[in-house]
Amino acid sequence: MKLQYKLSIPEPHTHMANITINAKRESSDNYLDFFIPSWSPGSYLMREYGRNIRIFMAHNKLGERLTTKQIDKGIFRIDFSASDLKHPEELEFSVKYEIFCHELTVRTSHIDQSHAFIHGPSTFMGVLGKEMNSPELEIEINPLWSKITTGLTDISEKRDVFLYSAADYDEFIDCPIEIGCHETDGFMSHGKPHELAFYGQFLSNGISETKVKEDIKKVVDHILATMGGAPYDRYVFMTHLAPGLFGGLEHLNSTALQYCSYEFSQEKGYKGWLELVAHEFFHLWNVKRIRPLELGPFDYTTEALTRMHWLTEGLTSFMDQYFIFRTDYYSLEDYLDCLKANINRYQQTPGRKYHSAEDSSFNSWIKLYRPDENSNNSSVSYYLKGGLIFLVLHMKLLEQGKGVLDLVDALWKRYLANPKVGVVEDEVFEMIREIGGEKLRDDFIYLVKGVDEIDFESLFNKFDLVFEYDEAKADLGINVEFKGDRVVVKSVRADSSAHKSGLNAGDEILSVNGLRFLKADYDNRDKIFIENKRYTLLISRLGHVMPQEILVEKGLRSIKSIKVKEGANNKEIETKLKGSMPV
Ligand SMILES: [Zn+2]
Repeated sequence: MKLQYKLSIPEPHTHMANITINAKRESSDNYLDFFIPSWSPGSYLMREYGRNIRIFMAHNKLGERLTTKQIDKGIFRIDFSASDLKHPEELEFSVKYEIFCHELTVRTSHIDQSHAFIHGPSTFMGVLGKEMNSPELEIEINPLWSKITTGLTDISEKRDVFLYSAADYDEFIDCPIEIGCHETDGFMSHGKPHELAFYGQFLSNGISETKVKEDIKKVVDHILATMGGAPYDRYVFMTHLAPGLFGGLEHLNSTALQYCSYEFSQEKGYKGWLELVAHEFFHLWNVKRIRPLELGPFDYTTEALTRMHWLTEGLTSFMDQYFIFRTDYYSLEDYLDCLKANINRYQQTPGRKYHSAEDSSFNSWIKLYRPDENSNNSSVSYYLKGGLIFLVLHMKLLEQGKGVLDLVDALWKRYLANPKVGVVEDEVFEMIREIGGEKLRDDFIYLVKGVDEIDFESLFNKFDLVFEYDEAKADLGINVEFKGDRVVVKSVRADSSAHKSGLNAGDEILSVNGLRFLKADYDNRDKIFIENKRYTLLISRLGHVMPQEILVEKGLRSIKSIKVKEGANNKEIETKLKGSMPV
């Protein structure tokens, strides 16, 4: 079934998009069910985009109103047989709906006077049970705006008619669209054009637009050289910059990136941005093409459960920092600092003892994407643990003169041999056996499925890298949020002082030993609380004010730094960790 979409945004300040779909049914189609996805590939939360639809109506080509009925959260049925029509033989029809778009994330659409960012799954309906080949989209551009940037194929033939197409519905909604007056630029790499679109601005503390382009190009050049070329005709980086923004979403031939304007302008934040660029760009191989069996083709109306996000996000998280290290944006010291932070975060997550990487993956829809006070105590991020699993694998392979790229290469060959069907975990485990032997495969399976502690230190020692630890200090073991100056407990770490004493998430700490306790005091807590000493807090819990005794104990030990062993050669270690480089 061919769907011809038209998008118009006559009043951007209302945040409404008007969508028309022209189509032709088969004479045997007594009814058709139009659906809007409930979720977006790459982001595993039921977002129920149907909640943003305002009206839905359908007419045949002769203008006769067709009977429609909403039959599920985001599904509307057009019942041709129940429609009272003068011309029931007319097969061509059109659907019209209005959709509210005012959420600026990479998985939602956002329209205001400044621009329209159109995220396919949250905007474009499809038809259940029909193959939707070669959909077309006409964009009626509002006079406020002058540019359209998208990974969709431009098939416009006339001036002022903006017409796009994709191979099928999946590809169609996988191409976000930026419409507005954004900055655009581009570069060639490995013979393919790469387009850049920037909406918003960064604080230009010495970072120029030219440098941003050069840096993206350097990362892209390196990844393409490593991966052996570009499996696309054209690639688009769409970036939104505003204070407080962060996020990225991968697509087949584009990515939507969001980053904080202030972070972007600071050295550390800027390198974090390059990590994000590398992360989403590498996803075009890992998850958009190489993918677990369950992740594509998709049923957009229900959750796609997989136990393999340690591969989709774990490997990608390892690779993003690894690529920034290999392109020399991170020195050896910087890279070891990143690894230190990852290991510390992992070892300070009590949930690592309960949830394996595959459990965390399987529960992504109800845990990682719906964090609460108990998240860190019951689960661990598959981004974090997945990344560390691949760090361990990489280091163990380096000892054999190989590296993680040998696995990436095997995964890519497997994709090329059978692109229509995703991989299952046994295939990945078998690849690891072929590259690194049976023992390594078994160790890896244990890292994926087990919850035992990982001995990072011994592994690093083999590379002449030593851990230095921070002395553990007196620690309450809580995360807090501030309501004005007031201190409210947000979460309590399992087995911490607060956990053992019975402090709860939601408790407001009013005073300590009779003294008022406010934000500035919390910020100064290292000087206030002494190890192995008891304090009487006054707390407000569910509207009741009550005393709460707490014995403040030592917190968790953390790694202060990972250093090159005295007498060892920095350059040799750096070269070894980087693995084989493209020529
Ligand atoms: Zn990712």
